[in-house]
Amino acid sequence: MSNQVKFVLDESRLPKAWYNIVADLPAPPPPVLHPGTLQPVGPDDLAPLFPMSLIMQEVSSEREIGIPEPVRDIYRQWRPSPLYRARRLEKALDTPARIYYKYEGVSPAGSHKPNTAVAQAFYNKEAGVKRIVTETGAGQWGSSLALSGAFFGLQIEIFMVRVSYNQKPYRRALMESYGARCVASPSEETNSGRMFLAQRADHPGSLGIAISEAVEVAAQSDDTKYALGSVLNHVLLHQTVIGQEAMEQMQMAGDFPDVIVGCTGGGSNFAGIAFPFIGHALRGGQKARIVAVEPAACPSLTKGRYAYDFGDTAHLTPLTKMHTLGSTFVPPGFHAGGLRYHGMAPLVSHCAELGLLEPRSYAQVTCFDAGVLFARSEGIVPAPEANHAVKGAVDEALRCKAEGKSETILFNLCGHGHFDMQAYMDYFGGKLLDQQYDEAELAMALAGLPSVGA
Ligand SMILES: *Cc1c(COP(=O)(O)O)cnc(C)c1O
Repeated sequence: MSNQVKFVLDESRLPKAWYNIVADLPAPPPPVLHPGTLQPVGPDDLAPLFPMSLIMQEVSSEREIGIPEPVRDIYRQWRPSPLYRARRLEKALDTPARIYYKYEGVSPAGSHKPNTAVAQAFYNKEAGVKRIVTETGAGQWGSSLALSGAFFGLQIEIFMVRVSYNQKPYRRALMESYGARCVASPSEETNSGRMFLAQRADHPGSLGIAISEAVEVAAQSDDTKYALGSVLNHVLLHQTVIGQEAMEQMQMAGDFPDVIVGCTGGGSNFAGIAFPFIGHALRGGQKARIVAVEPAACPSLTKGRYAYDFGDTAHLTPLTKMHTLGSTFVPPGFHAGGLRYHGMAPLVSHCAELGLLEPRSYAQVTCFDAGVLFARSEGIVPAPEANHAVKGAVDEALRCKAEGKSETILFNLCGHGHFDMQAYMDYFGGKLLDQQYDEAELAMALAGLPSVGA
């Protein structure tokens, strides 16, 4: 075998369609419910928040959904993204395993999130929308939507979780550079924001609260819609360009993964790399083990309950069945801000229930250990979120070493960490702690789940 480390697809190999896993699943995912009537929601119920084209993608069971040419034109700026073989990491680990990683940090915003942000901005523009309101945790999603708003001439307004707003001024500056308006959440600008500030003047905020603020603003005006950077079916759908490209690149490498690893916050980058491979196996093709890695401090897949829950803290959203820690759960302030959501994507949750994936959790310090080893071997500094996937891949490689197996491991390096160097400074300063979530708070949040009959 050659020493090739980089597998690059020609622009003509950029996927022409997104892949919808619903078409291949042995059982359909449970319906989304209206919180008042507990009946399945129809497309019209979601119309105040999303353009109809995205709602139709949300409920679609068609296997392939064509990618509009204007979206592909923008994708071409950084896609197809490269696939690397991590030869120096393999050597550092002294493993017989072959490790490959798909690198999504080549997008202008530095992560996988523009894959869906560009698509969502396109459909909103097409529907005549003037303004999109959203939330952001660490700032990756906000930057990606801000970028896409600049490309399509849309006004972007972002509620940024207050702790991140204070900790990550450069992310805010990036969003503003793209022309977006960024507000710390909870804010004085919405009823939900004022309610949480009244409870606690120095409220650190959470993704659930920021979503409530954004949804509230979007629902109040006709020319304004809401956008979500993860969790929803259409978001996962848009991310499948990652796995489709990776499948072709693995073919170029003359290899096929035995194990695929991704980190899970809301589940979108994980679904992006994994779903095309899961679908391939469900249609009778070669099968890989699929490992979903989440932070031990916000463990929705490994410790949450599979139940109907709200997507936000103020309970303005419909109910979806997912692995959840409860919508009032506020995780401790660990550094992988993109992994702090209380729930897991309904489609990823459903796949977990069907036994199609293996969930796993790691504490953050061990993930940074792996991330630093990766940076010193491969030269790319991973985002703190991505460190969870690196750690998962490293552990698989060490297992191969212990078992004397030369398996093939593929993981998604969903973003670089250039805006997260404070987290690395804290790590090197010994200030990064493995914070435990509060068991009593989790029990309370779970006890507060809405009661929905079986
Ligand atoms: C947002 C983000 C995540 C978490 O979101 P998913 O929907 O689970 O992918 C992970 N990594 C990076 C780099 C992110 O920006």
